[in-house]
This record gives sequence, C-alpha cells and structure tokens, in this order.
Amino acid sequence: MLIGDEAEPPYERPPLSKDVLTGATPIEKTYLGPLEQYAEFKIDLWTGTRADKLDVAGHKLTLSGKHGGELIYKKLLIVTGGRVRHLPTKGAELDGVHYIRTIDDSLSLKPKLVAGAKVVVIGGGFIGLETAASAKKLGCEVTILEMQPTLLGRVCDKWVGDWYVALHRKNGANVITQAVIDGIEGDSKVTGVRLGDGTVLPADIVVVGIGIIPNVELATDAGIAASNGITVDEFGHTSAADVYAAGDVANIPVHVHGIQARLETWANAQNGGMAVAANMVAELKGDAPKPFVDTPWFWSDQYDVNLQIVGVPAGWDKVVTRGNPDSGKFLLFYLHAGKVVAINLFNMGREARFAKQIVQAGKSLPEADLANETVKMMDLAKA
Ligand SMILES: Cc1cc2nc3c(=O)[nH]c(=O)nc-3n(C[C@H](O)[C@H](O)[C@H](O)COP(=O)(O)OP(=O)(O)OC[C@H]3O[C@@H](n4cnc5c(N)ncnc54)[C@H](O)[C@@H]3O)c2cc1C
Repeated sequence: MLIGDEAEPPYERPPLSKDVLTGATPIEKTYLGPLEQYAEFKIDLWTGTRADKLDVAGHKLTLSGKHGGELIYKKLLIVTGGRVRHLPTKGAELDGVHYIRTIDDSLSLKPKLVAGAKVVVIGGGFIGLETAASAKKLGCEVTILEMQPTLLGRVCDKWVGDWYVALHRKNGANVITQAVIDGIEGDSKVTGVRLGDGTVLPADIVVVGIGIIPNVELATDAGIAASNGITVDEFGHTSAADVYAAGDVANIPVHVHGIQARLETWANAQNGGMAVAANMVAELKGDAPKPFVDTPWFWSDQYDVNLQIVGVPAGWDKVVTRGNPDSGKFLLFYLHAGKVVAINLFNMGREARFAKQIVQAGKSLPEADLANETVKMMDLAKA
C-alpha cells in the first residue's frame, strides 16, 4: 500500500526545474509509469491521503484526506522526503514568490517565465541554478543571488562554483555573490528584492531555492530517533521495530565514505527505497536483510552542461583536473589523503560508471594518471 498526500500519482522531481519549466517535458511524462501498473503490481495507491500520526507500539497509522481512518501495518517505510525551506524575510509571502518542490510549484511558475520577465533567483544551489538556466532559455532577465562567496559552495570545490558563475554570466544571467537580502518589495505582488546595501533589484518573479527541511515529524512525534533526518542503520531500520526509512528523509550510513549522512539525490531515493523495501519483505519472510551499499550519485543540467557528481565531495584536501575546462568536457577528482573520494564529470556522463568504481574502491591513484587524459578512466577503475 502506497500512501501520499499529493494529488498526483508518484512522479519524478528532477524535470520540475528543467524541462517541465521550459515546456520540453509534459507533466504526464514525469509520472512513474502508467496508473494501470499499480494494479498490475498489486499496489493500492492512496493519493491525497496524509499520515498524521504513527503509533509504533500499536503498529497503527492515523490517516486524513481521501482515505482517512486508521490503518494497521506489519511493516512501515517512511519516505516522506522534505519540504522547501521558506525565506525568513519580510515580503516572502507576496504573490510572485515561488519555490520548486512539487508539480504544482513548477506548473504555477511555468506560465510566468515569459520573455522579458524579470526573475530573481535566491539561492545558488542546484535547484536555483537549474531554474535560472530554464528561465534564461525562455528569454527572461535573470539575476541569481547567493550569500556565499561562490555558487554551489556546500557541495563543490570553490573552483567549480566560480566556473558556474562564469557559465551563468556567459549565458546572460546576472550573478551576485555574497548577497545580503534585506527584504522583498511589493504591495500584494512582488516588485523587487532589496539588498543589504539598499539596492533594489526590480523583479516580477522571485524564485527561492534555499534547501529543504526533512519531513521527520511523523517519526519523531512517535519517538523515533532523528538527527538531520530519520536515523537508520545500513538495512534501513529506524529505532522503532518494523519501521524503516529511506530517501531524502533518512540519515543513512554511507559506506563508501564511512559517514552517516542525509543524501538528497534521485539515485539514493530510488536505490535506497528498493533496497529497504526488499529488506522489509525479507524480514517478513524471516530472511536476513542486506545492507544498502551504493556509491552516491547526483546530476544537474544547466544550459548545455551536464554535471554528474559521484561520491560525497566532503573533506577533500586536493583537487586534480583532467581535460580542459574551457572545452566544457572535463573531470575533477577530489582527493582526501591521496584517495579519490569524489569525482565531478562535466559533459562526460559516459565515464560515470568508471567514476563510481574508482570512488567505491577508494584507492590512491597517481595524480599524474588522474590528470592524464590518455590514461583511460576504465583503466583507472581497474588499477
Ligand atoms: C526541482 C527538483 C529537481 C531535482 N533534480 C535532481 C537532479 O537533477 N538529480 C538528482 O539526483 N536529484 C534531483 N532532485 C532530488 C530528487 O528529486 C529527490 O532526492 C527525490 O525526489 C527524493 O525522493 P523521496 O521519495 O525521498 O522524497 P520526495 O520526493 O520528497 O517524496 C516524499 C513524498 O511524501 C509526501 N509526504 C510527506 N509527508 C507525508 C505524510 N505525512 N503523509 C503522506 N505523504 C507525505 C510528500 O508530499 C511527497 O510526495 C531534484 C529535486 C527537485 C525538487
């Protein structure tokens, strides 16, 4: 039984800031397969239904919405994801301020992204930047505001952030880093964004992309342990018997790095969800669960650049470049104590599988080989 509080059947979120905004992907294409498939797989799909309360001792869920009532479970998987973090600024409630997490969010923004519209994007993370790129493609006048000294500061090397600043500028967006946002101006509708120095940037639309808050409350109100997400072990078990968690809401052991972290990636949601669901079934049958071991993987599309990130680029002490960044096709290896802990692939998606093997192996490879394009990635993976 699959329960979700959104009206739509399950759908992919990645296109929401990309091809859905530009109109290249119709909304139906984001759905995870045809509706008949759920019946075929014997899945009861309850959309428009919210799980309000969890009673772990009674193995009971209290639901509201289309299928309100109580439900007894044998095994429960919490995959409640996250909700957007709201801008804590005066004027953030004005008409014209948008966020992008759901189909509704994307569809309400899309018709406003018309040629000449003044769009201010607050937040230089992936969702903000993808939205900025989509808006530029549609002919909008775009300004990106980022409070850090560069873009993508949380997940990439500063050099990469600066490369993205240049990319957005080259494509006609205005990028302001170290921006201090003082308020959003307008009576009922947005007219501008006021910066700390008193400058007012005229705006018809403001798009805010400043991260998400994991939806842990269903679990924590029931006494389940959480710390930046619901804490799970390598099998997806939470601190309550028969309750599991996965995806954006779960704080998981990331084996390849020996850390516990919350990953906000499509691949983690898909692969983690499948692995934990398989464990739920195995344990119902009395079989042993298997650890979820996956090399983190994420991608982002902006303009003509496809970036893939393999591994979690945290705690690196050196970055080695392979290829010419000016060509738009190159790789970046993040090293920690000589070991490759993450790889950024720019327009080189075909090498991603070798990149995953390299990061998974956690080997120390000669820097000269990493930088040398004539040494194939396949051979580095085998080394
Ligand atoms: C615009 C956008 C672009 C993205 N692009 C990329 C990309 O290019 N590459 C990439 O790797 N990742 C991308 N991601 C991230 C990826 O989409 C997420 O990691 C993934 O959606 C997480 O899946 P999830 O099922 O864990 O959570 P979610 O997708 O958040 O789904 C959780 C669902 O649970 C529902 N829910 C919450 N609480 C309750 C409750 N109490 N009762 C019932 N239902 C509830 C929510 O409404 C939601 O429908 C993007 C995300 C967004 C928003």
